[in-house]
Amino acid sequence: MDQRSIWRSSELGRRTSDDQSCLYSMTPDEDYIIDFLGGSFNEDVVVAGGFSGHGFKMAPLIGKILVDMAVGGKVAAGKYEEEIKHLKLGRFEGNPRGNEKGFEDPSSP
Ligand SMILES: Cc1cc2nc3c(=O)[nH]c(=O)nc-3n(C[C@H](O)[C@H](O)[C@H](O)COP(=O)(O)OP(=O)(O)OC[C@H]3O[C@@H](n4cnc5c(N)ncnc54)[C@H](O)[C@@H]3O)c2cc1C
Repeated sequence: MDQRSIWRSSELGRRTSDDQSCLYSMTPDEDYIIDFLGGSFNEDVVVAGGFSGHGFKMAPLIGKILVDMAVGGKVAAGKYEEEIKHLKLGRFEGNPRGNEKGFEDPSSP
């Protein structure tokens, strides 16, 4: 019996009308993605996601960066280059694992 079934069959679980799994998006390197979509969209579409379970604490700063990118394009993004250079989509090209972390991946054999 899995954990969910155990909970559902418990006294409290029987009184629960509904439950929902709590999901969040993960990138392979657990770093955010903040970038322009590129391609034919060039800098018309700004992408922010893959916050990998630790995006909430950065929301005020990320919101400011995204607004500046959406309104001011690449010129505005330039002032955040140091902060967002390792968060770009291009890091997965040629390396699907993204940013190197310098520590062992516990899931690899
Ligand atoms: C259990 C849990 C604990 C966490 N703890 C922490 C923590 O301690 N510290 C921390 O910094 N971060 C934490 N996080 C991560 C943080 O909550 C996320 O990184 C952050 O909320 C991501 O923000 P977001 O705007 O990208 O996505 P979300 O907050 O998921 O917002 C996406 C929004 O888009 C809406 N949406 C989705 N699809 C559609 C659609 N098709 N049409 C219209 N709307 C749509 C959703 O309803 C939602 O409102 C936690 C996350 C979870 C699940």
